[in-house]
Amino acid sequence: MKAVQYREIGAAPEVVTLPDPEPGPGQVLLRVAAAGVCHSDIALMSWSAESFPYPLPLTLGHEGAGTVVALGDGVRGIEEGDSVAVYGPQGCGRCVKCAQGRENYCLRAAELGIFPPGLGAPGAMAEYLLVDDARFLQPLHGLDPVTTVPLTDAGLTPYHAIRRALPKLVPGSTAVVIGAGGLGHVAIQLLRALTPARVVALDVSEEKLALARDVGAHEVVLSDERAAERVRELTGGLGAEGVFDFVGAEPTTALAGSVAAVEADVAIVGLGGGAVPVGINTTAFDVAVAAPYWGSRSELAEVLELARAGAVEVRVETYSLDEAPAAYERLHAGKVNGRAVILP
Ligand code: NAD
Ligand code: ZN
Ligand code: ZN
Repeated sequence: MKAVQYREIGAAPEVVTLPDPEPGPGQVLLRVAAAGVCHSDIALMSWSAESFPYPLPLTLGHEGAGTVVALGDGVRGIEEGDSVAVYGPQGCGRCVKCAQGRENYCLRAAELGIFPPGLGAPGAMAEYLLVDDARFLQPLHGLDPVTTVPLTDAGLTPYHAIRRALPKLVPGSTAVVIGAGGLGHVAIQLLRALTPARVVALDVSEEKLALARDVGAHEVVLSDERAAERVRELTGGLGAEGVFDFVGAEPTTALAGSVAAVEADVAIVGLGGGAVPVGINTTAFDVAVAAPYWGSRSELAEVLELARAGAVEVRVETYSLDEAPAAYERLHAGKVNGRAVILP
């Protein structure tokens, strides 16, 4: 089969030919219909050899959807021909977090060497994907795999971050979304679907701000050195009750901290390496800052239900497997509007 691999530290991803995988006991083989391109892959491909945590070569793609084509011995409850989305942050299935479906916070994954597809284990940017357990597969029930596949990360991750802040996002409140890219443009729609908050979106690009408005942001603000002042103006000087930073770099984490209202929930989702210092006279009173990771299995089911209800619609640009390296270049250059999806 053809696959897109990151093979060497610092090198561009490559399209290669690998043996077709076969399912062992308990495993499920998918013919991949769609695989999403995430900015985290670009972060991963910038890490040094010393800090790189996974074996190379690595088949990329941690957003996957496809059709079940073969079942390993002992697999029950799923059929060949089923159209499914893959839950990525896979855990041990037995610890207390996994028992709650919160496999993204599995207590034993590292110890047991369990990695998400595309982030340590072979990923979805290939013609076939082996999935270790049927519990990681959720039925699409008629959803289009191409527009749905980003929901497994670009939908699930903001959903998880927003859920925590829901009690703060009451009528009259404001939610700030920093970075209206793959995750951010879904976050705006989730906030509109789940809360009565006024949504203010920030980005450095006019095109992304246009997309933000198009998907439901009430206000858009250019993310420059005047941005914090502008957000405070828009909130009568009080700041925002929910702040979601999908960049997470120094300038945006500073912005996130400074626009957080009294008792705000701030989530730093982007991997930009920044942090929000919290303290009396540093932030408003009782601001809580979190750095959430991906989401739970039940949250993925909830996000898929929102898609079925028509409440979220991912904007996608599609590419063939051979075009995947070019799609990464476009994402790196900030040129992807919405989410890039590879069709293997
Ligand atoms: P993306 O490239 O699609 O979107 C990023 C957006 O941020 C772009 O629209 C870009 O123009 C904008 N931006 C860049 N600098 C900015 C600034 N200074 N102010 C405002 N906007 C700015 O990326 P993505 O795939 O949506 O990923 C977003 C971030 O989330 C990445 O850092 C990614 O690694 C991270 N991520 C984290 C998790 C998690 O579980 N914590 C999961 C998925 C992705
Ligand atoms: Zn991702
Ligand atoms: Zn576990």
